[in-house]
Amino acid sequence: MPERTYDVVIIGGGHNGLVCAAYLAQAGLTVKVLERRSIVGGAAVTEEFHPGFRNSVASYTVSLLNPKVIADLNLHAHGLRIVERPAQNFLPLPDGRYLLTGEGRTRSEIAKFSQADADRYEAFCQSLERIADVLRGLVLKAPPNVVKGLGLRGLRELLHLGMLGNQLRGLDLEAQRDLLDLFTRPAADVLSDWFESEPIKALLGFDAIVGNYASPFDPGTAYVLLHHAFGEVNGKKGVWGHAMGGMGAITQAMAKAAAARGVEIETDAEVTELAIERGRVAGVALASGQVIKARALAANVNLKLLYTELTPQDALPRDFLQRMERFKCASGTFRMSVALSELPSFTALPGHDAGAHHGAGIIIAPSLDYMDHAYRDARKEGWSRAPIIELLIPSTLDDSLAPPGAHVASLFCQHVAPNLPDGRSWDEVRDEVADLMIATVDAYAPGFAQSVIARQALSPLDLEREFGLVGGDIFHGALSANQLFFARPMLGYADYRGPIPGLYHCGSGAHPGGGVTGAPGHNAARAIVADLKRRSFSASP
Ligand SMILES: Cc1cc2nc3c(=O)[nH]c(=O)nc-3n(C[C@H](O)[C@H](O)[C@H](O)COP(=O)(O)OP(=O)(O)OC[C@H]3O[C@@H](n4cnc5c(N)ncnc54)[C@H](O)[C@@H]3O)c2cc1C
Repeated sequence: MPERTYDVVIIGGGHNGLVCAAYLAQAGLTVKVLERRSIVGGAAVTEEFHPGFRNSVASYTVSLLNPKVIADLNLHAHGLRIVERPAQNFLPLPDGRYLLTGEGRTRSEIAKFSQADADRYEAFCQSLERIADVLRGLVLKAPPNVVKGLGLRGLRELLHLGMLGNQLRGLDLEAQRDLLDLFTRPAADVLSDWFESEPIKALLGFDAIVGNYASPFDPGTAYVLLHHAFGEVNGKKGVWGHAMGGMGAITQAMAKAAAARGVEIETDAEVTELAIERGRVAGVALASGQVIKARALAANVNLKLLYTELTPQDALPRDFLQRMERFKCASGTFRMSVALSELPSFTALPGHDAGAHHGAGIIIAPSLDYMDHAYRDARKEGWSRAPIIELLIPSTLDDSLAPPGAHVASLFCQHVAPNLPDGRSWDEVRDEVADLMIATVDAYAPGFAQSVIARQALSPLDLEREFGLVGGDIFHGALSANQLFFARPMLGYADYRGPIPGLYHCGSGAHPGGGVTGAPGHNAARAIVADLKRRSFSASP
């Protein structure tokens, strides 16, 4: 029997690979997804880490998942249910005070620290929302691409740029200035323009350093804050929620949606090399030795990994490869799941019985200065002795994750060095750092350490080995101005097309970047369908 040639093979079964596959199959193309791990979902998976205790392993909270993707793939019909948190965030302070934000309570909570800040909060949200709306309008579109010359492609991109300009002109001048601020300034400066009290600045500033190995006083960090604000849960903008069953419920629903459209999904299928024939992609080779043929390839894997490890180097333009080698991938995050015998009792809000704060994102980082120190310490020492942690206890909302009476928590710890400065391996210090993270929570919630029945700890090195996240980068590449929008992954390649004909980018290394959004997968599918349908048409008699 002649070997089958798929229209498209997707390298990696992360959520974007699955989304891309589903849209391609919907358009009538034959599609195969190849995933290295034993389950699909990439950084959005739920796994049992201790008998009876399941948790989202990496990504742990949902907001950015695009509503169009949810609707187009009919994810609710495939079992996805997303619920809101009872409160959005809880910031306990070392002096026993706290800030607990969420619908109906934020203003009065901020007023505990500053009436002026409470009075300005609504205007701040409106200003951020206006810019977030612009971003929402851009996430499902390919950015204008920089191309050489003024041929047909050049003219098309010029038109594209004009349309973008028009969209931005819809904003008044003050909003355009705010937009520029958010793309360029330090989060600390932007927040200090609005607020005077530290707790609200810290609570909002946390979003600027999540997965972003930087001080909130560094230029560009305000964008990362904005990046975390363009989502919504069940129609409520800017809100974060929980996928029942953990983040794996999202990708399991996506896999079902893809399979229902005819996509073949193969796990334990590691791609080791791209096959290139006559200057065009022809398929992939697997670790098993098998070769799978395809007319096109869509890479869901981190693009630095794709180009520096999976692509024959002589097939790539030299300048492209050199840039890709310099593509910044480095998040500085340390991820833990813990099984708990009881809910933590915080000094700031004592009691083991479930309260709204237990269902919130609990942030341990009392000030922007604290975050700045954490970053500086990590650069010097490898990790901060006073680390930044977001603690989330999803079992307060979802009893499928832990046995009755017990709980699971995610600890998302920021600012550990992706590579340790003294050349030591993360394997040598993982346990020491995990102990420190637990002790840090214990300092705010005495007894927490004792309540830990089991734990799973993933260093930046583990994130790279387990999920292919180069440098532990949770976004598949830093969200810095030189790696965003029409520069993602680099100028000239923002239209989801790689430098080899037939090769496409469908993962978070493409616009709009990381997070569980489904947007790169959606946008890449559009480019692939346009090209393959055009090719079939021109090849037809
Ligand atoms: C610790 C952590 C916490 C996060 N928290 C959140 C959060 O709470 N909310 C949020 O929205 N986002 C969060 N993120 C970011 C978000 O999870 C990612 O940006 C997103 O999941 C990336 O999706 P993707 O489909 O583009 O790529 P990935 O999920 O990285 O998928 C790529 C896939 O390719 C596979 N692969 C790698 N190499 C090969 C190969 N050679 N052959 C075949 N397959 C291969 C991988 O196994 C993986 O399945 C977090 C990420 C991390 C790591």
